[in-house]
Amino acid sequence: MNILVSDSLSPRGVAVLEQGGFHVDVKTKLPKEQLLEEIKAYDGIVVRSGTKVTAEVIDAGSRLKIIGRAGTGLDNVDCEAATRRGIVVMNTPGGNTVTTAEHTVALLVSMSRKIPQAAVSTKAGQWEKSKFMGTELYNKTLGLVGLGQIGAYVTKLAQGLAMQVIGYDPYLSPERAREMGIQSVGLDELFRRADFISVHTPLTNETRSLINAQAIRQMKDGVMIVNCARGGIIDEHDMFEALTSKKVAAAAFDVFVEEPVKPDHPLLTLDNFICTPHIGASTGEAQENVAISIAEQFVDYFNKGVARGAVNIPSVPPDALSQLHPYIGLAERMGSFQAQLIDEGIEEVTVEYRGDVAALSLAPLTVAILKGLLTPILQDTVNAVNAPVLAKQRGIEVKEVKWSDAGDYTSLIRLHVKAGAHTHQLDGILYNKKDPRIVESNAYAVEVVPKGHMLLIYNIDRPGVIGTVGRILGEHDVNIAQMQCSRGQKGDNSLLVISLDHPPSLQVLDNIKRETDVVSARLVDLSDVS
Ligand code: NAD
Repeated sequence: MNILVSDSLSPRGVAVLEQGGFHVDVKTKLPKEQLLEEIKAYDGIVVRSGTKVTAEVIDAGSRLKIIGRAGTGLDNVDCEAATRRGIVVMNTPGGNTVTTAEHTVALLVSMSRKIPQAAVSTKAGQWEKSKFMGTELYNKTLGLVGLGQIGAYVTKLAQGLAMQVIGYDPYLSPERAREMGIQSVGLDELFRRADFISVHTPLTNETRSLINAQAIRQMKDGVMIVNCARGGIIDEHDMFEALTSKKVAAAAFDVFVEEPVKPDHPLLTLDNFICTPHIGASTGEAQENVAISIAEQFVDYFNKGVARGAVNIPSVPPDALSQLHPYIGLAERMGSFQAQLIDEGIEEVTVEYRGDVAALSLAPLTVAILKGLLTPILQDTVNAVNAPVLAKQRGIEVKEVKWSDAGDYTSLIRLHVKAGAHTHQLDGILYNKKDPRIVESNAYAVEVVPKGHMLLIYNIDRPGVIGTVGRILGEHDVNIAQMQCSRGQKGDNSLLVISLDHPPSLQVLDNIKRETDVVSARLVDLSDVS
């Protein structure tokens, strides 16, 4: 796998990629035309905010499978174009949480103690002690809008400064707010009660100009406000008015609507306004964290098939990763196994998750089943990104069902695939919590290791079939690794599942099919399933 790193990245990130077995080229500041040419040779690209990964670049990257952003913002990546091409887009949302939260607190303290202004004055030879009278944070109420990763860490830091933290986040459960030691309040109440306000939401239609003249009117006189999230959440014009009238005593911005901020921006003329040039995430530690995170995510994706931090496929939280990983392998094998036994168009897929597995994050497992089901049909065009889209395009209805009871097992995945007049059923489990096993196929109890090349034979339940099949394979030098025989109910056909060291030729398969007691024989190839 060839990876292009096209913006400067901490060498430790590059080292993780190389240790993961990738060939890495670091080529920064490539002109557009050169990037369009170079990208053709790469399976993955890592960027920060510099490289513009446009639809044109994505289309030129014929081998491209993954785009990684070391950091959070994806303004420079055309995610829609990537999804259309089945390319995974990942970012590293947690990598700069601490750094940005610390910057927020730094702005809070700088603003309340007028540190930047005092520093300029002192360096200019002044000693203006009374001019820089400050305000304590101790016991003051801090209102946080947005209680995601950064909001949560700011809470911890502010509690350490003995501030009373109240918060507004309509998408956060009250239990989570309680766990964080925050009093969850409505937005109006937050505006009315807070001595300091800090915003930590993304910029959306809902949050654009969330703090405007009308909101400011509800606030305490002398409130102080920080924006270390995204430019535009606070209306810059209304903030200028409020700072000029001193309704808002001070404000501190790390982000602006337009960046770099124009030197003649009105806010920059105000003494009670302090700012930094979008450096919330700019520490050596954060840059290293995001570089290492994106590199590890690449390694996990290519080597284990697990997508963490993916923005266009179900993401797997890191703590769930180790539990999910073996089930993902089982799910994809089940899908592929089943697809190779079906000749008709698939109409409906129902996945029952039974027992302990039902408590896991199921979306990646269902995606893996769909990928397995569609790969024998669509080959390379299908992957974990586009499998659900392709299934939908093909009119396949997908359902997930959870059951607490897994019968004789602690966990079981039961797959029903409706195709034509038949609904096929396949049961899979993890043996020893890690090794995939098929334990039932269309009501035949088996114990099959789903890997490599297999031969499935339905035969009339009479003596001699196993011997005949073994002889035909032996005569053509096809070695049997394992064999399973399941009788179904009395009078039914038997199912013979044979694992082979290598696949027999079609001629050998025909010979087997011609045997009188053989009802049907099929090859299943799982050798390419990771
Ligand atoms: P996050 O996704 O973990 O948290 C965002 C939170 O905002 C979520 O809990 C969400 O429920 C909440 N939210 C969404 N809409 C809301 C609304 N209308 N009202 C209230 N809450 C709402 O993100 P994060 O990592 O905590 O980042 C927060 C912000 O900080 C983002 O805008 C991010 O881009 C920005 N950021 C800035 C810098 C910087 O350099 N200054 C660095 C990193 C992140």
